[in-house]
Amino acid sequence: MSSPQFAELLNNPQLLRAITELGYTSPTQVQEKAIPLAIEGKDLLVQSKTGSGKTAAFLLPSISRMLTEVSNNPLSTRILILTPTRELARQIVKNAQELLRYTTIKVGMICGGEELKYQKALLRKNPEIIVATPGRLAEHIAHKSTDFSGLEILILDEADRMMDMGLHEDLVKVVAQCPAEKQTLLFSATLEQKNLRQLIQDVMGDKKAERIVVDDAPNPIDHKMVLSDGNPHKDKLLVACLEKTPHQKAIIFANTRARVDELNQLLRRHGYAVSLLHGDITQDERKKALDRFRDKKTTVLVATDVAARGLDIDAVELVVNVDMAYSGDEYLHRIGRTGRAGQSGLAISFVTAKDWNLTKGIERYLSIQMEMLQIAGLTAAYKGPEKLKASGKAVGIKKKIIDKPKTPEKKVKDRLRDKKNVGKRRQASTLVSENKNADGFAPPKKKLVQKLDQLDDAE
Ligand code: AMP
Repeated sequence: MSSPQFAELLNNPQLLRAITELGYTSPTQVQEKAIPLAIEGKDLLVQSKTGSGKTAAFLLPSISRMLTEVSNNPLSTRILILTPTRELARQIVKNAQELLRYTTIKVGMICGGEELKYQKALLRKNPEIIVATPGRLAEHIAHKSTDFSGLEILILDEADRMMDMGLHEDLVKVVAQCPAEKQTLLFSATLEQKNLRQLIQDVMGDKKAERIVVDDAPNPIDHKMVLSDGNPHKDKLLVACLEKTPHQKAIIFANTRARVDELNQLLRRHGYAVSLLHGDITQDERKKALDRFRDKKTTVLVATDVAARGLDIDAVELVVNVDMAYSGDEYLHRIGRTGRAGQSGLAISFVTAKDWNLTKGIERYLSIQMEMLQIAGLTAAYKGPEKLKASGKAVGIKKKIIDKPKTPEKKVKDRLRDKKNVGKRRQASTLVSENKNADGFAPPKKKLVQKLDQLDDAE
C-alpha cells in the first residue's frame, strides 16, 4: 500500500502550500499515524524519536484544527507546547512559523534566560500558540501572568526528558492551569520509562488516550567520537574523516575564528571547495558563502557556532565537531542540520582529554551514545580516562597528600669554613676559650658573621 500524501491528511490550503515549500513530499511514519487521530481530537501518547518528523506530527494537526474550528474564546491562547530546553523551544517556534507562513496565527516563546517583564507583555497579548519550557512557565503561573482558560490543545514534547530533568512538579503546575476538556498530545522517545507513568496519569487523568508507537524509525543520526591529542592530530583526523565519509555536504565546527581560518587553509590545500563562516566576515560574504554551499559549488562549510546560528540548510550528511560543542544544546544545534527526515546523518566529534567529561555530560543530557571510532593510522596516544565514574565521567585525580614532618628539619648551612678543616687536627695554639678568639679579641659581631656566611655561601 502506498503511503498517503499530505493532501489526504490535511485539507487546509495554507498549510499544504507551506509544506510543499518546505520540501516535505510525503508524511513520515509518525505523521501518517498521528495526524488523522489528532485531527479527530483524540488524546495521544506517541513514542517517537527526534528526527522522525515528530514536531510536524503535532504541529500540523493542531494548526489544522485551529484553522477549521472556531474558538469559543477567541482572545485566548489555543495551543500550549511544553518542551525541555530553550534550544528545542526555538526549533519548534521556527518550524511553527514556517508552517504558519500563509496564516495570521502568532507564536510566542516563554523560556528561561530572558527578562520576565517582556514575557509578561507577550503573555498579555495571548498569542494563539505558546511554546514554553516548564520551569519558566511555572514562574509566570506563580506571578499570575498566565491565562489558559481557553486552551484547546496541550502538547508535551520529549516528555521523558522533561521527567529526567526533574520538571515533573512544574509540569503538574502548568497542567493544573489548563481546562479539563482540552486535547492532550504527549510525545516521548519512549513510553516505557518508569517515571513517565505518573506524568501520564497527571496529564491524562481518567481519559483514555490512543497509543502510537513508531519504533522502526531509527534515530537517523549516528553519533561518533574520535579520541584526539590536540590540533595537529585533529587536522589529520579531519582530512581522513572527509576522505572516508562519502558526502555531498559536510559542516565542520570549530570554536574560534582563528581555527576556522586554519581549517579553511588546510582543506583548501587538500583540494576541497570550502565555504567559511565566522563573525569577522561581512553580511555579503556570508550570504555568498551560504549560497555557494547550498548550490553545491562548495562541499564543505567551516563555521563557528555563532556564525552558524539560524542556518537553513538541508541534506547535510556529515557534521564534524573538530572542537567539541560547549553544551548539549549547542551540540543539538550543530547536528540539527543532518539526519533530516528520511535521510541518515553522521556526527563525528573529536574528543581530547580535556573534553571527556563535557562529552559524557552531553551524551547524558541528550540521551545519546557516541560510538568510539578509530581511524586507521591515526589512533591517539590519549586512550580515555583510566577510571570512570558510573556517569561515564573521569574519576578526578586527587592530589597526593605527603605527610609533612611534624618538626621541620633544621636547615644546616653548608659552609666552606666548616669543611676546610675536616680531618685535620686542631693546633694547640688555635684553641680558644668560649668567648675569645686565639688572638685574645672578642669574636666578631653578629653582622660581620652574617657577611662572612654570605661570602661562604657564594663560594
Ligand atoms: P523532528 O523529528 O521534528 O526534529 O524533525 C526532523 C527534521 O525533519 C526537521 O528538520 C523537519 O523539518 C524535517 N521534516 C519533518 N517532516 C518532514 C517530512 N514529511 N518530509 C521531510 N522532512 C521532514
